[in-house]
Amino acid sequence: MHSKRRIVLSTIVMLFATLGLSLTICIDPGHQKEADFTHEQIAPGSETTKARVSTGTRGSSTGIPEYVFNLEFSFMLRDRLLEEGYDVVMTRESHEVNVSNIERAEIANEAKADLCVRIHANYSSDSSLKGFMLLVPSSSSVHTAPIYEESRKAAEKIHASLLQISGIESLGIRVRDDMTGFNWSKVPVIIFEAGYMSNPEEDVLLSTQDYREKLVEALVTGIADYFLTK
Ligand SMILES: [Zn+2]
Repeated sequence: MHSKRRIVLSTIVMLFATLGLSLTICIDPGHQKEADFTHEQIAPGSETTKARVSTGTRGSSTGIPEYVFNLEFSFMLRDRLLEEGYDVVMTRESHEVNVSNIERAEIANEAKADLCVRIHANYSSDSSLKGFMLLVPSSSSVHTAPIYEESRKAAEKIHASLLQISGIESLGIRVRDDMTGFNWSKVPVIIFEAGYMSNPEEDVLLSTQDYREKLVEALVTGIADYFLTK
């Protein structure tokens, strides 16, 4: 079943290739080892500013830093997308970088990515909170109105695909107008919040190869479904 599914997915990229089109996915592994608290504009022309980039959260059971989870997971996703025939652009490939959220959006813009997938894990002061969520840019912001519809469509396909994982809990698709990386993006973009590192059980789950593979396969399937129905 798995190999059949793979053949179907590869066909989608091949179909685009026969039309002379390649599909480029930008993967943005959230955060980095050292934060940069100097500020940058939250949106073009905005008076509101935010730190260029932070280090993210940390696993409450495992102690794994979020920036480490994000990059390890992103490499797995990159390798599977390359296998499927996509072109992949990464915003970072090591922890010792200084790439701000504006700069990450610009990498996706310059690559003219067909979709940008930003990888994160979540934190809450309520340690019982768990589940994945998808974030999309706002339809009402002048900065992101042009990319809202496609971002939303991609998020819905990926959400449906993730729900196929047995036992997975969803916190839904949420609209955000305060994310620098969204507001500077000119290409469809979503954030995948894989789960809560502040939840002791979900933190352990997110650290396992088996669960990571399930999530990656679901993302690959959801991305293919998005392009198939685009
Ligand atoms: Zn994060």
